[in-house]
Amino acid sequence: MTVSANLGFPRIGAHRELKKALETYWKGETGISDLSATAAQLRARHWHLQKEAGIDVIPSNDFSLYDHVLDTSVLFGAIPRRFEPLRDGDPLTLYFACARGTADAPAMEMTKWFDTNYHYIVPEFTRDQDFALASRKPIDEYLEARAQGIETRPVVLGPVTWLSLGKSRDDGLDPIDLLDKALPAYAELLAALKATGAQSVQIDEPVLSLDLTDKQRAAFVKAYEVFAAVAPDIMLATYFGPLGDNLPLAVNLPVAGLHIDLARAPEQLEDVLAATRTRNTVLSLGLIDGRNIWRADLAEKFRLVRRAWDLVGPDRLQIAPSCSLLHSPVDLELETALDDEFRSWLAFAKQKLGEVQALTLAIQRGESAAREAFSASKSAIASRTASPRTTNQSVRRRVAAIRPDDLRRDNPYAIRQQKQADRFGLPLFPTTTIGSFPQTQEVRKARAAHKRGELDTAGYDAFLKQETERSVRIQEELGLDVLVHGEFERNDMVEYFGEQLDGFAFTKNGWVQSYGSRCVKPPVIYGDVSRPGPMTVTWSAYAQSLTKKPMKGMLTGPVTILQWSFVRDDQPRSETCRQIGLAIRDEVLDLEEAGIGMIQIDEPALREGLPLRRKDWQAYLDWAVDCFRLAASGVADRTQIHTHMCYAEFNDIMEAIAALDADVISIETSRSDMELLDAFRVFAYPNEIGPGVWDIHSPRVPGQTDMEALLKKALAAIPARRLWVNPDCGLKTRDWPEVKASLEHLVAAAATLRASAA
Ligand code: GLN
Ligand code: ZN
Repeated sequence: MTVSANLGFPRIGAHRELKKALETYWKGETGISDLSATAAQLRARHWHLQKEAGIDVIPSNDFSLYDHVLDTSVLFGAIPRRFEPLRDGDPLTLYFACARGTADAPAMEMTKWFDTNYHYIVPEFTRDQDFALASRKPIDEYLEARAQGIETRPVVLGPVTWLSLGKSRDDGLDPIDLLDKALPAYAELLAALKATGAQSVQIDEPVLSLDLTDKQRAAFVKAYEVFAAVAPDIMLATYFGPLGDNLPLAVNLPVAGLHIDLARAPEQLEDVLAATRTRNTVLSLGLIDGRNIWRADLAEKFRLVRRAWDLVGPDRLQIAPSCSLLHSPVDLELETALDDEFRSWLAFAKQKLGEVQALTLAIQRGESAAREAFSASKSAIASRTASPRTTNQSVRRRVAAIRPDDLRRDNPYAIRQQKQADRFGLPLFPTTTIGSFPQTQEVRKARAAHKRGELDTAGYDAFLKQETERSVRIQEELGLDVLVHGEFERNDMVEYFGEQLDGFAFTKNGWVQSYGSRCVKPPVIYGDVSRPGPMTVTWSAYAQSLTKKPMKGMLTGPVTILQWSFVRDDQPRSETCRQIGLAIRDEVLDLEEAGIGMIQIDEPALREGLPLRRKDWQAYLDWAVDCFRLAASGVADRTQIHTHMCYAEFNDIMEAIAALDADVISIETSRSDMELLDAFRVFAYPNEIGPGVWDIHSPRVPGQTDMEALLKKALAAIPARRLWVNPDCGLKTRDWPEVKASLEHLVAAAATLRASAA
């Protein structure tokens, strides 16, 4: 019989209980037993919730106190040497030390989990690495559920994915080379799960949706041969994209089942069915989108179930979400900020399980068994499609009327550069910052008080004006050449714009885990995007009125706004992005009109939007670049467009970055010791660049000579006339004393360079 399954449930809790438990524990206000009790409560609650939803296959070991990749590293004893002194102590202290660092040992690195906004802790490997089963977490959690009468399918992160996500600490070591050493520990775990009574195990191998090397392919074959002999029935879980050319590899592995993502890649169903038809493989159909918040079109999903059922029959099917529900908020029932119509369009984790169950019932007993769910889905889709809230004809007409000319500045950079130089008369090596200044306790308090209604708008505005003026004076005293207003009025660089744009909604409780205890509440883009009125002009114009120096306008770019939101799934992302591009374009023009001569459009998320497969990159980059240019190109030659990005890999996308045709780009480079600039040198990047000379992620105040040394390195890659001097990123997380000291050194470093260039 066809059964329903889940791949993972959000850990953080409907009321962010885990966040609170972790943070009080870290502060030392509570002990291990309190933290463990909250964690156990959450696990129990989530198991029971899934059981009550009717889910047949419920996961265990999907819970984590911080991150499941770190859990895996700790499970197999892959602890970086710098935490060695903690090894014999309390395991939890060691675990959090790896995640968060200690006074003596920096935290392990963190990076985004595939193309989601969830961050995992990057495993670190050395050549002489040993692995051993160092914890019983998966076994304990399986037994914990069983003691509550719930039989579960433990989730384990697969070895090829785990090693592939890792970073080598030794030159020439490819972590995948460590497979042979890691396999015995994995085999021991799988055998132990089997001995404990687990019937099946879910092994996650999302790298199967990526381009794989021959080594990785060979690793799959080897690992799963070993596992087949010792493990319970394996459900090999793939997600985030189609298997594509990895399909033959995946279906030939000796596993009992294969989970495929049919939300991201419904088109792969036919190929997967054809490839598995004559085998006994159980197919887990990942139908309900685990990464979004939209209610599913059950009738459409059901057609896929039917098709699979026709070809493989009822006994080899499972119905599931596309991936773990980790990436969606917990429970729509707690959502009070949205009206009924809007809520009817949505499904959070709990509701998604209801959808999985409805599809399962419909295939088990006929559609009438799930009539209510199907008809609710149908009316929700109909209401969402027909609603005047989702469609704005004038926006659509505007997008349809975009002409190639709208994506081009009037003249090429060389001509613009001349006009801008005449207008601004900046010295060589102009100094500036990236936008935000410290978001102090005071700033946060005032915002919170205003939100609660305790501080009226006039009082709040007066406070913000005072902060802005203070920052302008400080920048003038420091002698910076190009100023910023400080972004004190902004809570978050996407939310601030979303709140002022039509087509965006905000949930009250739609939290998803970003990393560790940190949760985010992404804006929801549900309708055609338009800008009812100026969003930043008042603040920028006010700040400019305080000074004769150029004041940079500060905007978030369309790709970043798209990337950090829950995006509507009823039209291509590129279409939504174009609409945002038009709204930002209007803002850019209003800033220009208000006398702002330099406008920065931040795109820190441009690179993370890259599709998982290389063959899809160009199509994405084409529309992403177009959207930026749409936002930026309406201005006159004499208006200077800046952009900012902060990540370390530019090599792959150099062409796209140059194609943005920003007059100035500021980038994060200080941590890579300017090595990154090689990409800009080799490519002969044509416009101006400000390579970051201050690692703002660290509380360390960089010395003037450190920054001079970095700038000298930069001069090897960038001609002096095109070199700007700035920090790596915005300064909102730093405090004022650090900021003042560091910027003093930065300005002095630029002055020294200028003197020696003269
Ligand atoms: N202008 C933003 C700031 O300074 C840029 C932030 C970012 O790059 N993430 O805070
Ligand atoms: Zn940045």
